[in-house]
This record gives sequence, structure tokens and C-alpha cells, in this order.
Amino acid sequence: MSYPVTYYCPRCEAVVELEREGYLADKSVTPYPLEGWTYVGADEDVEAADGVRFVCGEDGTLRDDDASGCGEPFYLSYVRFEDGEAVEARPESEYVRLGR
Ligand SMILES: [Zn+2]
Repeated sequence: MSYPVTYYCPRCEAVVELEREGYLADKSVTPYPLEGWTYVGADEDVEAADGVRFVCGEDGTLRDDDASGCGEPFYLSYVRFEDGEAVEARPESEYVRLGR
């Protein structure tokens, strides 16, 4: 069963909404992709990759009809596991540390 989950764009704080199955843990939402993660668009099978690439205001995911978004991409990354251990993202930039 899926249910809507909301995220904030890290660039402009617009709210996007995504239907999720609920068995994948979210790691972070960042303006840039994490190294080693694969992403799909919000209109694709969002459970089939390591995360979702949103395009703020361009891909139909904004929750509020009167929001317009910033038109820039941002990335929802799930927790990834290798050999039973959660994979840490290498900090490519300060933005990876958003959410602490
Ligand atoms: Zn935005």
C-alpha cells in the first residue's frame, strides 16, 4: 500500500509530494546527487533505484497548486545497504550534511 510522503526542496523550500510504498528508509534530501547512488525521476518507479531526482516545479510533484518551485533539480536519497551495513555518503560538499 502506498501513501504520500512530503519533502522540502533544499533550494527554495517548496513542498513536493511522492507516493511511497514505505519500506525504504530515507537518508537525505540534497541539492546534488550522492556519489554511488542511482536516481530515477519522480514519475518513474521510485522504488527501483537508490533515490529520486526531482525537478522542482517541473515534474508535477509540487504539493501546493499555488507554488511554482525553483526549476532546479534536487535529490532524495534512500539509505543504501551493502553487506548489511548502511553505506555512508562521501561528503562531496557541505550540502550532503543537510538534515543534521
Ligand atoms: Zn525548489
